[in-house]
Amino acid sequence: MAIAEDLEVASFLKGGPKKLFIGGRWVEAAGGETFETIDPATGEVLARVAEGGAEDIDRAVASARRSFDRGTWRELPPAERAKVLWKVGDMLDERANEFAQLETLDNGMPINDALLFHVPLAAATFRYYAGWVTKLDGATQQVSLPGKYLSYTLREPIGVVGQIIPWNFPLLMAAWKLAPALACGNSVVLKPSEETPLSALLIAELLQQAEVPDGVVNVVPGRGEVAGARLASHPDVDKIAFTGSTEVGKLIARASSESNLKRVSLELGGKSPNIVFADADLTRAVSGAFFGIFFNQGQVCSAGSRLFVQEKVYDHTLDELLKTVNETRIGPGIDPVTQMGPLVSRTQMDRVLGYIAQGNKEGARLIAGGGRPEGFDAGYFVKPTVFADVDGDMRIAREEIFGPVVAAIPFSDEEDLVAKANSTIYGLVAGVWTRDVGRAHRVAHALKAGTVYVNCYHIVDPVTPWGGYRQSGWGRELGPYALDLYTELKNVIVDIG
Ligand code: NAD
Repeated sequence: MAIAEDLEVASFLKGGPKKLFIGGRWVEAAGGETFETIDPATGEVLARVAEGGAEDIDRAVASARRSFDRGTWRELPPAERAKVLWKVGDMLDERANEFAQLETLDNGMPINDALLFHVPLAAATFRYYAGWVTKLDGATQQVSLPGKYLSYTLREPIGVVGQIIPWNFPLLMAAWKLAPALACGNSVVLKPSEETPLSALLIAELLQQAEVPDGVVNVVPGRGEVAGARLASHPDVDKIAFTGSTEVGKLIARASSESNLKRVSLELGGKSPNIVFADADLTRAVSGAFFGIFFNQGQVCSAGSRLFVQEKVYDHTLDELLKTVNETRIGPGIDPVTQMGPLVSRTQMDRVLGYIAQGNKEGARLIAGGGRPEGFDAGYFVKPTVFADVDGDMRIAREEIFGPVVAAIPFSDEEDLVAKANSTIYGLVAGVWTRDVGRAHRVAHALKAGTVYVNCYHIVDPVTPWGGYRQSGWGRELGPYALDLYTELKNVIVDIG
């Protein structure tokens, strides 16, 4: 495929297949296989990439183990490690155009979202965790037993960490995984999604330039059932951090329990309620409802895919939402005027179209979208789609669609709403739109979700804990909470009597 020469990322994309990054070297897959990564806006091949298999994962784990045992990273003075991570953040900012273009071409997202949100947030995540490296302190305990004891704790890195990430925010997910793991002194094997392997490879290049020692970070693109499965079941991996579907999350948990009981953290799917009360500022609520579901083409774990609207303002809210939906500019993400790009792949497009057909079959009222836009036949575009009068039992109200499809559901009062909103296997986020302070807190407390947004949506910062209740996952990323995911706590007790 011809990549415009004036794009900063053009030189990265030129040449032969991209290689695996193992032990500080760029290497071919042991079996010599490669796979194609596609530009979803055109359906054309963007690049070929070495396809890591089980043997490559074994090589990467061995290299991570060697670097960990030698202490090349974990034993560097904390201030030195902090400097390196800070530098990575700054380098991401300096090369923001290149990273943004790569994300857009590989994933489909609008370039402005990549520039304004994804790349700066990835950079901020590295800088935030750079700040923690010098503050990973233990504590002392006052022992009450007879005699005299000095009891204190140490936070130690876990060891070799396997990280498996999805395709929806490839760079940001890599940053959320790598930055805290490195801050805590671990060595890492990162497996990006086979749909979007490129930004993880570019970040490996950047880590090398920032002088992260060889072998501390290894990046092995490959298929989930092969490379991902090997990483999850590897006996010499001490911890696995996974972001992806609930279905695969269960396989990861099983692989851990059947191999070496490696530590597991899981960031999984969602079917989040976005709730509009009649007393809300409806202009803001409508724009929050739109952003909540259609950001990143709806391919967001925390997408507000169930839109609950109080009966009194139901018709008005949907009318206003349709105005915004109908004005949305669809197109290739690389075009700066685009507001909504393609879905990541043909498979994902077909899956979403299948859910739209299902919604129609189940009798939901289709009021916007419902198919592919005209004029973009080569890419994987789906129009922003709104179903009204959805019943909570319908599949489009229960299952994660991971696309630009919202199910609008009316409710009568607070009690009715809380029961309906909590009626899901997930619990990642929720949104509440109201001017009543008491109601905002009451409902926030009653909702079963890891994050509740009040009069806002999709606000994410490196300091805010991220994770879900129920089948949305195990553990919390971001903030100081991620430090618990990447350290072991050791207690030392000394008889000083
Ligand atoms: P997915 O579960 O299909 O794949 C995620 C990753 O797991 C990929 O790298 C894939 O190669 C790998 N994988 C697949 N099968 C595997 C196996 N058997 N063993 C080990 N690894 C395997 O998910 P996806 O389609 O890439 O991403 C979409 C899903 O991710 C959605 O469910 C979404 O909600 C979830 N997600 C969650 C969060 C969060 O923070 N909670 C963030 C982003 C995405």
